[in-house]
Amino acid sequence: MTGFATRAARAGINRDPAHRAVTAPIHLSSAFARETPELVPDFDYSRTAHPGRALFEESVADLEGGAGAVATASGMAAIDLLLNDLPRGARIVAPVDAYGGTRRLLDARATSGRFDVRYVRCWETGEIAAALEGGADLLLIETPSNPLLRITDIESTARLGKAAGALVAVDNTLLSPALQRPLTLGADCVLHSATKLINGHSDMVGGVLVETDTARLDRHRWWANAAGTGLAGFDAFLALRGIRTLPVRARTQSAAALEIAEWLAARPEVAAVHYPGLNDHPGHALAARQQSGFGVVLSLELAPDRDARVFAKALSLFTLAQSLGGVESLVSLPALMTHAAMTPDARAAAGISDRLIRLSVGLEDVADLISDLEAALTASATT
Ligand SMILES: *Cc1c(COP(=O)(O)O)cnc(C)c1O
Repeated sequence: MTGFATRAARAGINRDPAHRAVTAPIHLSSAFARETPELVPDFDYSRTAHPGRALFEESVADLEGGAGAVATASGMAAIDLLLNDLPRGARIVAPVDAYGGTRRLLDARATSGRFDVRYVRCWETGEIAAALEGGADLLLIETPSNPLLRITDIESTARLGKAAGALVAVDNTLLSPALQRPLTLGADCVLHSATKLINGHSDMVGGVLVETDTARLDRHRWWANAAGTGLAGFDAFLALRGIRTLPVRARTQSAAALEIAEWLAARPEVAAVHYPGLNDHPGHALAARQQSGFGVVLSLELAPDRDARVFAKALSLFTLAQSLGGVESLVSLPALMTHAAMTPDARAAAGISDRLIRLSVGLEDVADLISDLEAALTASATT
C-alpha cells in the first residue's frame, strides 16, 4: 500500500470515467437515469448515494483503515447514526467532558428513556472499568478531549470495552487520521466532524462514520438513506478537496500549536496551558505513543488578574468563532460558546471553568500569531 500522504493527495484524482477529469467533478444532480425500469444503476437517487459522496467515503475509510464509511450532513448526524443502531435501553459509557453537542444529544436521548448513559472521566482508565461493570452496549471515547485536551488510552480502553461486550467508538475529530488512527489501536469504529480538520477550510458542515464491520456499515447506510441524513454533493466535493492537503495542514498547524503552547506556558499572565505536546501535560507520554502529532487545538486559563473576554476580543488574528481545525486561527470561550448547552454543574464536573479559552491554530505565520497573543495578554489586565 502507498503512503498516507500519497493516498490523501490522490483522493478522488483521475476517477472520472466520463471525461477523465483529473479532479473529481461535482455532481449536483438529484437523480441518475436508468437504462431500463428494472436495472438499478450504481447511482440512482442522490439521497441514497452520489459519486462525490462515494469518493469521500472511500477516501476517509482508506485513511482510517476501515472497511467502509458513511458520510453524513454533519458530525452530529454521524454520531446519531451510531446511536441509532443501539437497542432501546442500551447502556452507553461516554466522556464527562464530551463535545457539547454530543453531550446534548446523549442527555436528550437519555431523558426520553431511549438510553442509560453513564459519564466517566475517560482519562482515568479505572473509572471506565467501573462504569463497564455489568456490561455495556457502547463505549464512546473522544481523545484528545475538547476543550481540555485530556488523553484517553485507546488501546487499553478498547480492550476493556470489548471485554464488557460494548462497541468501541472513537470521535477522532480533533486529530483526523493524519495524526491518530484509532482502528489500528483496537477501536470498532471512528467518527468525525468533517467540518473541522478533515475539510480544513471552514466552508462546509459534514460528518463521517468509519466502520470495521460491513454488516454494521450496511445498517448505517440503510438508515442514512431512510432518514435522509447523507452528505450533499457540493459539501462532499469540498471535503474531498480538503483531504488532499490534510497531512501537510495537520503537521504544520500542530507544529505551530506546540510553539504557541510553549510560549504561553512561559508567560506570567497565563495560569495554565492544556496541550498534550507539553512535557508536563499528564497525557504527554501517552499522546506521544498513540498519536503521530499533538494536534492543532490548545486551551489556556489566564491568571486571576486577567479577563478572558477582554483577551478574546483584543485578538485580531484569532477570530472569535466556535469551530476548529481550519486554516484560519480561531478563539473561543467554551463556557459561553461550545459548551453553553451544559448545566453549570456539568461544566464544573468536566473541569470547564468560565475562564477557559480555547485556541485552534491555523496556517498563519507563527510569529504573527504570537505577536497577536502578546498584545491581547497585555490588554487583558483587569486593573
Ligand atoms: C464539532 C464536533 C462535533 C460535531 O460536528 P458537527 O459537524 O458540528 O455536527 C463532534 N465532535 C467533536 C469533537 C467536534 O469538535
